[in-house]
Amino acid sequence: MSAAEWIRKRLKEVAREEYVPNEDAIPTIPAGSLNKNGLIRLDANENLLFPHSLLSTVLREVSDEVDVRTYPRLEEDSLIEALADYLNFPSAQIVVSNGSDPLIESCVKAFLKGDEEAISISPTFAMYKIITRNHGFDYVEVSLNEDFSLNADVFLSEVNANTVLCFLNSPNNPTGNQFPLADVKKIIEAFNGFVVIDEAYVDFAPYSVLDLIEKSENLIVLRTFSKAFGLAGLRIGYSLSNLEVTDALKRIQLPFNVNKVSLTMARKVLEQREVIADVVTLVKSERDKLFRRMNRISGVTAFNSDANFILFKTEKDPEKIYHGLQKKGLLIRRFKSILEREEFLRVTVGLPEMNKNFTDYLKELCEE
Ligand code: PMP
Repeated sequence: MSAAEWIRKRLKEVAREEYVPNEDAIPTIPAGSLNKNGLIRLDANENLLFPHSLLSTVLREVSDEVDVRTYPRLEEDSLIEALADYLNFPSAQIVVSNGSDPLIESCVKAFLKGDEEAISISPTFAMYKIITRNHGFDYVEVSLNEDFSLNADVFLSEVNANTVLCFLNSPNNPTGNQFPLADVKKIIEAFNGFVVIDEAYVDFAPYSVLDLIEKSENLIVLRTFSKAFGLAGLRIGYSLSNLEVTDALKRIQLPFNVNKVSLTMARKVLEQREVIADVVTLVKSERDKLFRRMNRISGVTAFNSDANFILFKTEKDPEKIYHGLQKKGLLIRRFKSILEREEFLRVTVGLPEMNKNFTDYLKELCEE
């Protein structure tokens, strides 16, 4: 094989699995079909209910304060201290990162070697599988029940001596439900390896497993500023775990992995406790309203959600619903097969008027 052939072969092997956020969205929208506000994205579980004006003001403050000529040093510690205070959790057990996706990758890099494998449920957040496989490890998927509930015993029965990393998303994306705490606890206690509980949407849900860290040396909780805190564009996530696990995760990280602007902005947003609490209340009430309205539409089944999005199915061809909504300027997410069943759709909770428009259009499309 020539050197050039070898290079081409190697390049083909890179990233066997790729994350495609919303594969067929934008290019298929016929020109001129957008509403006057342009395309509204309700496909990525961002938080449009966090007041944009407040974030812009804070960002302007940050831009005056921050000296971007030097590397972020104190800013990371300041954010960690602010998080420790906000969560009432030891600062030495927090790692911040450039979004929570890189922390999923840190867990794979830190905890898997040789023939070992990771396990998770299906359906769930795609990145656990993509990252695990791209690092060359096997990934086992255990199907949820038809109603998206989790059977902890069935899950644990799929574990073998090589299964040393477990990912659970709580609440689970894309189904939206949070599994009963007793089942999650059972898995954390029985699993002989590291358990990652991804709490990206926990602020909208009934419980967190944070308190279990003190007694579980195998537990890593992942959180993000992308959802409840409205900072998806700034890319800030963090992990919470015991001291030894935290040290291992820190060792695997690259230096200065989060930029100064994001670190400072996140710290300032955390100071806005009343705003955060109000936003979370608003998201939950809009979600519950949306859920009721969707289920009143004939031919629509919306699934109960503890997050800021709702999974649903339609009797009418979901592809037509998806493209019909796009023509009206609303972009949602499709899942072509869940549990090897039919196609499902997922909508993010948006501003009240967006949610209203969404249900009006959905009704039109389902009942026409
Ligand atoms: N975990 C889950 C369950 C998610 O849905 C997402 C983003 N959609 C992430 C993690 C990644 O979040 P971040 O923006 O912090 O990388």
